[in-house]
Amino acid sequence: MRILVTGGAGFIGSHLCDRLLADGHHVVCLDNFFTGRRENIEHLLHDQRFELIRHDVVEPLFIDVDQIYNLACPASPPHYQYNPVKTVKSNVMGTINMLVLAKRVRARILQASTSEVYGDPTVHPQTESYWGNVNPIGPRSCYDEGKRVAETLMMDYHRQDRVDIRIARIFNTYGTRMLEGDGRVVSNFVVQALRGQELTIYGSGEQSRSFCYVDDLVEGLVRLMATEGRYEPVNLGNPVEFTIKELAERVSRLVGGDVRTVYRPLPQDDPTQRQPDITRARQWLGWEPGIQLEEGLTRTIAWFRERVGRRGGPGIGITASSPATS
Ligand code: NAD
Ligand code: UDP
Repeated sequence: MRILVTGGAGFIGSHLCDRLLADGHHVVCLDNFFTGRRENIEHLLHDQRFELIRHDVVEPLFIDVDQIYNLACPASPPHYQYNPVKTVKSNVMGTINMLVLAKRVRARILQASTSEVYGDPTVHPQTESYWGNVNPIGPRSCYDEGKRVAETLMMDYHRQDRVDIRIARIFNTYGTRMLEGDGRVVSNFVVQALRGQELTIYGSGEQSRSFCYVDDLVEGLVRLMATEGRYEPVNLGNPVEFTIKELAERVSRLVGGDVRTVYRPLPQDDPTQRQPDITRARQWLGWEPGIQLEEGLTRTIAWFRERVGRRGGPGIGITASSPATS
């Protein structure tokens, strides 16, 4: 098949491109390189079945493809808050443009949605039937509400025009190829520990997240795309929940040495808890994560160890320790 991956030079997108090529497909990788890097896909450029397009999903696109994975959107709070209006546009106009393309060429389209559609959840763990608790006017809203509208658009194009849609609600995913200056907690802690800096815990560190290794996530995305007749959202994430303090302890132990922590203000609207109920993914896709935190962190630390300090610092003027907002 000929498959379009928007955001294909980013963290998850580049791993997805690898996987789709390995499965024998032709991959068209589209990216505006806001948070994506050429380095993530450089090893694919020689492949006859790989095409790279520098393009912004906010602009229409017409190419012939069989499937579309729509991942184009910055995912880390400092990145999506850097230009919030652009984040909304990427999610709304970008998703419309990709749905128009899917409709026109009759391609199946998968939208990368997020656990952020549940906001600061009052239902725990989160099932797909939960409608969420999202602040519509806060600093995270450009992303949370943008993704909620993207889901609405997917369902409406499906109901109105019979577009063949899939929606993945992705929970915190980490692994190799995250940006050093990404701002998300796993890459922050790993980079800080490797540099001998203090690990920045925002708030009390009692808030929780459930961390999924990128290889598991990619497997879930590919399986979801391949299912027939399932149009409702599916949670994809690792259901094992950790507090941020526990994560800091894990990273400290695995990196070794004298790792200290420092407490910083909690960013506004930071969700207090997050854990996916993956019953639907188990039943519909036969999927569950196989790589637990210890193993995933070990791989991630090994990858960053090779890179930290070797190249320039963090991207777009955001340091590894800056809270998203405070
Ligand atoms: P990322 O920032 O590494 O990747 C996003 C990619 O999209 C980058 O390559 C970026 O340059 C590109 N991009 C951004 N805006 C674009 C635009 N307007 N036009 C074209 N390209 C654009 O983030 P990621 O973690 O790989 O996330 C990928 C997708 O998965 C995103 O849609 C994100 O919302 C979703 N997601 C990720 C997580 C996670 O924990 N990593 C969780 C939930 C959802
Ligand atoms: N966090 C932290 N230190 C950091 C970066 C993040 O304590 O250096 C916290 C953040 O406040 C949040 C959690 O870790 O409670 C996960 O943050 P991340 O930005 O990775 O993901 P999200 O909040 O979008 O789930």
